[in-house]
Amino acid sequence: MLRTGKEFLESIRDGRKVYLGGELVRDVTTHPAFRNAAQTFAMIFDRRASPENRDVMTYEEDGARHATYYMRPKTRDELRRRTETHRRIASWTYGLLGRSPDHVASYVTGLSLRPDLFEGNRKGFGDNLLAYQRHMRDNDICATYTVLPPQGSRKPEYYNRPDVVVPTLRVVAEKDDGIVISGMKMLGTSAVFANETWVGNVLPLSPSQVKEAVTCAVPINAPGVNVWSRKSFERAAVSEFDNPLSYRFDETDSMIIFKNVKVPWERVFIMDDAELSREVYMRSPAHSFGNHQSTVRFGEKLKLLVAIAYKVAKVNGIAHVPQVQGTLSRLAAAEAGFRAMIAGQIEDCEELVPGYVNVNRRYMYSALLWGATHYYQLCDDVRELMGGGPFQVPADISVLKDPELAADFESYWSLPEQKALDRMKLFKLGWDLLGSEFAGRHTQYERFYSGPSFIVTSYSWNTAPWAQFEEMVDKLMASYDVPAEYRIKAAE
Ligand SMILES: Cc1cc2nc3c(=O)[nH]c(=O)nc-3n(C[C@H](O)[C@H](O)[C@H](O)COP(=O)(O)OP(=O)(O)OC[C@H]3O[C@@H](n4cnc5c(N)ncnc54)[C@H](O)[C@@H]3O)c2cc1C
Repeated sequence: MLRTGKEFLESIRDGRKVYLGGELVRDVTTHPAFRNAAQTFAMIFDRRASPENRDVMTYEEDGARHATYYMRPKTRDELRRRTETHRRIASWTYGLLGRSPDHVASYVTGLSLRPDLFEGNRKGFGDNLLAYQRHMRDNDICATYTVLPPQGSRKPEYYNRPDVVVPTLRVVAEKDDGIVISGMKMLGTSAVFANETWVGNVLPLSPSQVKEAVTCAVPINAPGVNVWSRKSFERAAVSEFDNPLSYRFDETDSMIIFKNVKVPWERVFIMDDAELSREVYMRSPAHSFGNHQSTVRFGEKLKLLVAIAYKVAKVNGIAHVPQVQGTLSRLAAAEAGFRAMIAGQIEDCEELVPGYVNVNRRYMYSALLWGATHYYQLCDDVRELMGGGPFQVPADISVLKDPELAADFESYWSLPEQKALDRMKLFKLGWDLLGSEFAGRHTQYERFYSGPSFIVTSYSWNTAPWAQFEEMVDKLMASYDVPAEYRIKAAE
């Protein structure tokens, strides 16, 4: 089933408990902190099924039409179709929504290719997982995930700490009809707009954290679930003109507290296995599908970054300066190179689960690492091009209310090829992407959404063909020897 935007909005008016500081938000679709981003999510739901997108972004399975991100790809073309679906969603949101509805859906679809992993944990859990993937697909569910314990309660070895493990979300009771979980998880991006959260562990747990090793799915409005949102940048936006990105694309991030939340058995997928609770993502295509979507999204954001850099250089009349062209060229090359990293993931696709194709994991992890380590540097390059431009425009658009100030603004700020208002509009947009609080959150997001850098780096370490690299050097060194005249002669 494909839901409309209106049906999606209706589904999140469900009595959920979202806290913004001390305020309990009754309806996120109408509240000034969240309503525009809610509309952005609704727009995605609507556009997928429009005539120009339907053939790519939806597919038929089990007698109904679904979003393509639920498709389990058997050919390179099907993989390509998934990618194009991600790309279109990211292009509508300029790569600014990390948890658009295709992200967690891709994770769960990847997991659904290895039900045996879950079945091996407990009989029936494999079927639970398959049924959950169908539930998400058939009901067009928008999900977030909370797959990290809060800071300070993780596997001690990873943080070079003594073996003191602070309890985090864990199973506190097992009953005939399900389990009861209690504790806190981080950091549910878009949780305030999601129908459900996937609860799991994407960072390693300590072997002693057995009761924390639970993987399950929970509706955001389930009794006992409390969503604590960070500050809303949407509410802090002065106006759409002044903060065009914060205004529409603040997907939000939240801590989720689970207070004795009942989870029925059919939504439980893993219990009591600290290693498996993390490994399922790597042993199935889940981590690949989810992070492939992330790289495609990042690629669309890079385009916006380069586009703003070019436009700023142009209106400032510096695009012809060789050094500036050098900066622009490096930015454009980075964007093109990144697109190639995405294309390569498909062209050199691999088989992780027999009968299904997966993106090339090495390329995917290198794109992930590249994005996490280069984003802030690229932003810095564009900020350098902007100079003091963002601070040379008036504080906000209210300047137009006063006819005298408006006339002064028009006459002093206009350039031969650019009206004052257009200049202000461009610099406000640029600052919202690169300098505002919304922008700061994005810099942090790109660095951390897939884990801290020492973890993201380890993915490349784990997938690189070190033996082949070593063999290459050995072979090369074996092809020559110490020149005969320097060889030590055997004792005569
Ligand atoms: C904006 C944003 C959105 C997010 N969205 C989600 C989401 O939707 N769902 C979700 O589950 N999670 C989400 N996360 C969480 C994200 O996965 C974590 O931020 C990430 O795993 C890092 O964990 P941490 O923030 O607790 O930092 P920490 O793990 O505490 O790390 C802090 C710093 O210490 C360094 N460090 C710590 N130990 C070592 C060591 N042994 N060696 C070297 N360096 C070390 C790290 O590299 C890092 O620089 C989000 C995070 C952000 C910032």
